[in-house]
Amino acid sequence: KAQLKRLGFALDWSRELATCEPDYYGQEQALFLDLYKAGLVYRKESAVNWDPVDMTVLANEQVIDGRGWRSGALVEKRKLNQWFLKITQFADELLAGLGELKNWPEKVRLMQENWIGKSQGLRCTFRFVDSSDGIEVYTTRPDTMFGASFVAIAADHPFARKMAESVPELADFIAECKQGGTTAAELETAEKKGFNTGYSVEHPLKKSWHLPVYVANFVLMDYGTGAVFGCPAHDQRDLDFARKYELPVTRVVAEGDETDPVFHGNEAYTGPGRIVNSEWLDGMTIDEAKADIIAKAAHEGWGQAETQYRLRDWGVSRQRYWGTPIPFIHCADCGVVPVPKSQLPVTLPEDVDFKTPGNPLLRHPTWRHVDCPQCGKAAERETDTLDTFVDSSWYFLRFASQPSDRPFDPEVIKQWLPVEQYIGGIEHAILHLLYARFWTRALNHIGLIDVKEPFASLFTQGMVTHETYSRIDPANGQPIYFSPAEVERGGETAKLKADGQPVEIGRVIKMSKSKKNVVDPD
Ligand code: ZN
Repeated sequence: KAQLKRLGFALDWSRELATCEPDYYGQEQALFLDLYKAGLVYRKESAVNWDPVDMTVLANEQVIDGRGWRSGALVEKRKLNQWFLKITQFADELLAGLGELKNWPEKVRLMQENWIGKSQGLRCTFRFVDSSDGIEVYTTRPDTMFGASFVAIAADHPFARKMAESVPELADFIAECKQGGTTAAELETAEKKGFNTGYSVEHPLKKSWHLPVYVANFVLMDYGTGAVFGCPAHDQRDLDFARKYELPVTRVVAEGDETDPVFHGNEAYTGPGRIVNSEWLDGMTIDEAKADIIAKAAHEGWGQAETQYRLRDWGVSRQRYWGTPIPFIHCADCGVVPVPKSQLPVTLPEDVDFKTPGNPLLRHPTWRHVDCPQCGKAAERETDTLDTFVDSSWYFLRFASQPSDRPFDPEVIKQWLPVEQYIGGIEHAILHLLYARFWTRALNHIGLIDVKEPFASLFTQGMVTHETYSRIDPANGQPIYFSPAEVERGGETAKLKADGQPVEIGRVIKMSKSKKNVVDPD
C-alpha cells in the first residue's frame, strides 16, 4: 500500500476493502443466501479433487497438470458432501455474452469458449446382444459411427459398479482408476487402461456387428452419459486404447484418395474430409453425415440430438479456515437450515489452532455448536468455507458502493458498472474472469443489479517473473523457498547468505508469495 501511494496513483483510498473482514464477507454471506433462495446454490455428494497438502477440495480449474494450483501436490479423488453454485444454468448465456465483449482479448474469449465447451451431438443406445437393455452413449461424432470398434464406460458407470459386486478383478480395476485426477486434461495424458467386461453390444446401424464393452479410465461419468463408442481412426484416446488392446481401426473419414479402410499409424486423423467405408454416407461431408445419422436415429427411435457442455457446476466448499464461513446450520431434525440474515455475519473464531493439519473450524471446541434457528435444539454450523474465488467475484461492486446494511446500493451500481477498463493476468482467463461474469449474471438474474457483464474492456498485462531458490526440508521432503534478497548468486550456483550453503536454482516463473521469488518494488 505504501508503495502504491509512492507511485502516485490517483486511487480513492476511502473505498479500500479487505475480503477477509466481516464487513465484507458478512455481505457475501447475505448474497450467498439470496442465491440459495433462488435455487442457484445446492449441496450434493460428489467426487472431488482433494489436495493432500492443503487438505482441501479444489475446483477443476484449480488443478493444473494433476497438481494443486497452490501446493503443487498430486491431487486425489474423494467423495464428499459439497456446496455448489449453479454456473451451468448460465452456460449458454456466458457463451453468447462473449460475442459482445469486443474489447476483450480474443485469446481470453476463446479460452472461455473452450472451457464452457458447448457441443452438439447424438445420444443413442447400443443394445446388449440378445437383450432389451443397452448402454446409452453420447457422441459429438455420429458421422464416424461406421468406424466404431468398441464401447467404453466410466469406472463410476452404474453397469460397471453393479458388475464389480460379483467380479473382484473389476472392483480392483475401478479402485485403480480412482487414483488418477478428475480433470479432462489429466484423462487426456494418462495411460489408457481398460477392463474387458466380456459383454457385447449391437452396432445400431448394423445389428450383426457386435462390439466389446470395456470399463475404461479415460471416460468421465459426469460428461455425457458416462459411456462412449470408440472410433479409433478419428480420436486419439480411442486410437491409443485400440492399439493397446488390439482392436480394429477402420478409416471412415478421408481427405483426398486416402480411402484404405485399414488405418495405419498411431496418430488419429481428426481433420476435415469426406466420409468413406460407411455405406450410404460415403462421399458426404462430416456435417452432412452427422445430420443424416441424427435424423435416422430419431426416426428409428434409438437416439436423439443433444447439446452438452463441458462446464461443470462450481464446487465452492473448502475445508479450511481462511475463507467466508458458509452460512448454514446442520440440525438433526430440520436438516440443512440457512442462518437467518439477522444473525449475519457468521464470523470466524480468532482463537484457532493451526498446528494440526485439517480444518481448524471442525476442531474448534465451541465455534460450531449453535442452536437450530428453526427448532431451537442443539445443532452444528457448517464448517466449510467458501472458495476465495467467490470473494473476488463481486468485490468490484463493493468498491463502487459499500453501505453497512447491505452488499451495495443498486442505484449507485447503475452509475459505476460495468467496469470500463479491467486489468488482470491471462492466468485468470477461466478462473476469476469466468466466475465474476457468472456472479454478475446471477445477481442480475435475481434482480439485484442491472448489468449482465462486469468488465467492458479487459487488458491482460504480462507477468513479472524470477527464478526460484529452494532447499528440500529433510523433515517432510517439501521444498523451503528463499527470496532473492536472502540469496547470493554467482555463476551457475547460488548460496544462502545466512549459512553460506548452496540452494537449488529453480525455473523462472511468475513471482508469487508462496515461492518467494519476489523482488521488492523499492
Ligand atoms: Zn432444527
